[in-house]
Amino acid sequence: MGIIQVMDEQLANRIAAGEVVERPASVVKELAENAIDAGATEIDIAVEEGGLTFIRVRDNGSGIEADDLERAFQRHATSKIRTDRDLFRIATLGFRGEALPSIAAVSRVSCLSAADDSGLGRKIVLEGGHVRSIEQAASPKGTEIVVRDLFFNTPARLKYMKTIQTELGHITDCVNRLALSHPGIAFTLTHNGNPLLRTTGGGDRLQVIAAIYGAAAARQMLRAAADHPDYRLEGWLSKPELTRANRSGITTIVNGRYIRSFAIQQAILEAYHTLLPTGRFPLVVLEVGMHPGLLDVNVHPAKQEVRFSKEAELKELVESVLRRALGRTAHIPSAPAAG
Ligand code: ADP
Ligand code: MG
Repeated sequence: MGIIQVMDEQLANRIAAGEVVERPASVVKELAENAIDAGATEIDIAVEEGGLTFIRVRDNGSGIEADDLERAFQRHATSKIRTDRDLFRIATLGFRGEALPSIAAVSRVSCLSAADDSGLGRKIVLEGGHVRSIEQAASPKGTEIVVRDLFFNTPARLKYMKTIQTELGHITDCVNRLALSHPGIAFTLTHNGNPLLRTTGGGDRLQVIAAIYGAAAARQMLRAAADHPDYRLEGWLSKPELTRANRSGITTIVNGRYIRSFAIQQAILEAYHTLLPTGRFPLVVLEVGMHPGLLDVNVHPAKQEVRFSKEAELKELVESVLRRALGRTAHIPSAPAAG
């Protein structure tokens, strides 16, 4: 008799949750990204106590069909990928079908959604991954998800949470970057009822920069744009006079997804080179568009890290485009050493 067993779905979800749901900000990110994938033009986010007790994300996107509502909370259930070929041309932010079951496994969740304008939708309530109720309920078209008492059943993780201020900092950072990535979507963020961010959804990224960093900073930004056979670059970078104490003002967006890329960040800093005093950093929002096949986003469950298939070429392009925007002369590669 063997001793290996396949774990049940609840347990598997709770383990996956450890990777997908690191902290309240991860919940905000996953829910907001689902709203973006659903084509929402308005996304309202309300959190309380740094998101530890209450997170609500409401959108006016496509909604979830009544028949799909329960399935949306099942593991590996997704409407975004159908065949393994889809994995090589991912155009949505989500695709792993893990966020909702993972979040539900470690909190008390309700999801109210309607996929049409009839005014009637469906609501599901789950606790620690178990479905408590499903019923018809009045709902405008779109989706509203409420997540309460995050990590209530994983005390070890709860203990690891930092102060409310720190958790809120991660949430605002996340929402700011989502708003910068999607200037065409109107975002609001409130904490304990206090408004922290409001963007218009008018499509102007510089306006979003003004909403986040202030109008004075926005006036100090230079535009950069370039078309290349493989890449499209578009963004804003601060004049060398406007500097910041750390790198948090650098936002890199690839195909609508904000990511962490050491390579791109390096190229950006290289473009400024000696223009900035040591220990000072620019404010940069840079979006790179490329064929999804040039990019692997399936590196980590949180999908913040990516792999570029032509990284060196991309770095060179970023650096030269930003240099030009900064008015610096073209980069002349140093001649290879003789001999
Ligand atoms: P993924 O985003 O990887 O597909 P999720 O667990 O985040 O997985 O969501 C599961 C499915 O639930 C999605 O594929 C989508 O069909 C549906 N869904 C989740 N959130 C929303 C939303 N806000 N609006 C419409 N559909 C949604
Ligand atoms: Mg998702």
